[in-house]
Amino acid sequence: MSEFLQRPCPACGSRDTRSEMRAGKAAETMSLDALRPFWAGLFKEKCFFSYHRCRDCGLLYNPVFFTPAQLGELYARMAPNMDAVGDAAIVATQRGYFARAAADGGLAGGYLEIGPDVGHIVREAARHGGFDRFWLFEPNVAIHDQLRAAAGGKPALLSTGMDDLSPVPDASVGLAVMVHVLDHLLDPLAMLAQIRAKLRPGGTLMIVTHDESSLLRRVMGMRWPPFCLQHPELYSPATMTDLLGRAGFGSVRVERSRNVFPLDFLVRQAAWAAGLRVRRVPLPVVPIGLKLGNILTLAKAPAQAAARSPVLEAAE
Ligand SMILES: [Zn+2]
Repeated sequence: MSEFLQRPCPACGSRDTRSEMRAGKAAETMSLDALRPFWAGLFKEKCFFSYHRCRDCGLLYNPVFFTPAQLGELYARMAPNMDAVGDAAIVATQRGYFARAAADGGLAGGYLEIGPDVGHIVREAARHGGFDRFWLFEPNVAIHDQLRAAAGGKPALLSTGMDDLSPVPDASVGLAVMVHVLDHLLDPLAMLAQIRAKLRPGGTLMIVTHDESSLLRRVMGMRWPPFCLQHPELYSPATMTDLLGRAGFGSVRVERSRNVFPLDFLVRQAAWAAGLRVRRVPLPVVPIGLKLGNILTLAKAPAQAAARSPVLEAAE
């Protein structure tokens, strides 16, 4: 018997799948201990659990994956991500995400973010939105002070939990945000259903994920970086729309999103891939926006959600 979790499709519950992407080192054939160095990114060789496509709803997911207990332990030891890209580029990218959500309006009521990291979008929301309260679910306690500062003195409730939103009053949130979080969750549908209940009528959920139907994924095949031990499922515009519909969201729009990288980072990455070492070559730090196979999804809570919790609304 495997020490790993065997699971049905997290969107529709079907077990009818076909195998689509298998790593040179298929994680389900290895032990947890053998996988630890791969989780930590210590080896270049690709290692992940095999991705299957659900024959019923089309979601691409791992039928075999880490258990919740194994995941908790692995994440507790994980270093912060994207540190190689540099802060300015991350700030520019996340500012772009907030601007996209802001263009839709509705920046009032509560602000809810799952996995806000150090709070780049929180800072934008505190500066440019009219939010009265911040609900921030971030497991990394070491950055909670930074997060609180990002909220700029607005009332902020921080929690280390990532799966229980019960402290947030129902129908109170104007904007909920998840950037590169949904494809890390074992039960994305349960999270989306919770968030929907927290949104005010007409409130917005913004999600950023990779796009497994992107050109980049087709070109890179198995080497596409999002095929990794951290993603138990991967989305496309079609499967994202389907999942949000199952969670009770109304209008859903999926757009390709822009990632901002400094030019020197891109040149170094390209040189690295070509086997060159250019670390000491001075290069201009010009920010470049690229559409690199990420998608930004905006989903609305239906207006009739107001009728669902009249007691709570009256109590506030
Ligand atoms: Zn399915």
